[in-house]
Amino acid sequence: MNQAAPLPPALTVKAGHVQPIWAGHPWVFKQAVERIDDGVGAGDEVLVLDPHGKVLGRGLYSPASAISVRIYTVEGGRPIDGALLREKIEHALRLRHALRLPDATPERQTTGFRLVHGEGDGLPGLIVDAFGDVLVVQIGTIGLKRLEPVWLAALNEVLGPRAVLDRTPESVARAEGFALGEGTPPLLYGEAPATLSFHERGLAFELPLELSQKTGFYFDQRPLRARVEELSRGSRVLDAFCYAGGVGLSAARGGASEVWGVDTSAPAIEVAQQSAERNGLAARFEVLDAARAFRKAADEGGYDIVVCDPPKLASRRARDRALGNYRKLAAGACAATRVGGLLAFCSCTASVPMDALGRTLALGARDAGRRALIVERLFQGPDHPVVAAFPEGLYLKILIARIETP
Ligand code: SAH
Repeated sequence: MNQAAPLPPALTVKAGHVQPIWAGHPWVFKQAVERIDDGVGAGDEVLVLDPHGKVLGRGLYSPASAISVRIYTVEGGRPIDGALLREKIEHALRLRHALRLPDATPERQTTGFRLVHGEGDGLPGLIVDAFGDVLVVQIGTIGLKRLEPVWLAALNEVLGPRAVLDRTPESVARAEGFALGEGTPPLLYGEAPATLSFHERGLAFELPLELSQKTGFYFDQRPLRARVEELSRGSRVLDAFCYAGGVGLSAARGGASEVWGVDTSAPAIEVAQQSAERNGLAARFEVLDAARAFRKAADEGGYDIVVCDPPKLASRRARDRALGNYRKLAAGACAATRVGGLLAFCSCTASVPMDALGRTLALGARDAGRRALIVERLFQGPDHPVVAAFPEGLYLKILIARIETP
């Protein structure tokens, strides 16, 4: 007869902190923890209970983190094992297929996309990006690191990739208390490819492994790149913070009369230039600080379309400083946009909500002697899903505004 497996040790959540978790928020913050059974170690499975002893779910314990537990299942009797992880990976893949990812239609061929988006796919802390048949992962917790052989086997069974590379940031591994493997990047499975090559909406990219921002590419901005392409015909486009040139090349394909991309990363600019050649598109990419590019553009009377897509500016604690920085950036970007032109102003900082971003854009526009009229809002693409109970998941916000005189 089947014997039910013993339950893992328990962690009880304080009264007053239960409701979000009950609604589906997958995090238990440190300050929400009432007590923990003795002997629970880093990365162990725990049963999460409310103050009455009712099961809220089952998760992995991260003692060094401000987020003590990430919940993987609301079923108390369900172990976090190969069967559960495989089910979640299959579920994530089915969602991508429903979204037409990958897409084999030649003119919009897309083989690069996010396959597993952590909390959004019920796998908190695990990121998996697909670059064709090469997968790149980021591991966010010690518990996931300990389960690496288990989810790796599940990924291999479900997808059969050529290789799996690990791009977990050193800072994350250190904070969680685990070591990264050998190699840059460490190879978790298969044979290391020479480059990461993929298509996005018919554009071909080939990234050297040394180009290692995030997992290698910003798949979250696919909707922005598509929209800029639609808006660009006959326009002069400034792609500030251009990385590998995705936005600028989309603008060029959309018929822009001029494309100027700037980024402070020399390797990124080199790849952007190569990508322009590879796709037969005309665009100028330059190693330059965005603030300087904005001043130069302003001096020349402004561009028709300006895209301002800076990296994450600050941590949750430094929110006010982040907003100050965004305001300065907004002022520069508004001045770089000609009156009557469009500015796409982006923030990938989770703790800056849409209304705060709008306010910041308004203040920056005012500083530049302009007014911003918001005409569109975009977000991270659909392969970066957000659990409704987890508002932090909606981290990327884009305001498209017409820049006008006040
Ligand atoms: N829009 C890009 C992604 C931008 S990511 C895309 O669609 O792929 C942010 C980029 O900003 C990174 O490439 C980083 O190198 C660059 N960056 C950081 N500080 C910068 C600065 N002061 N000026 C210009 N670029 C900068």
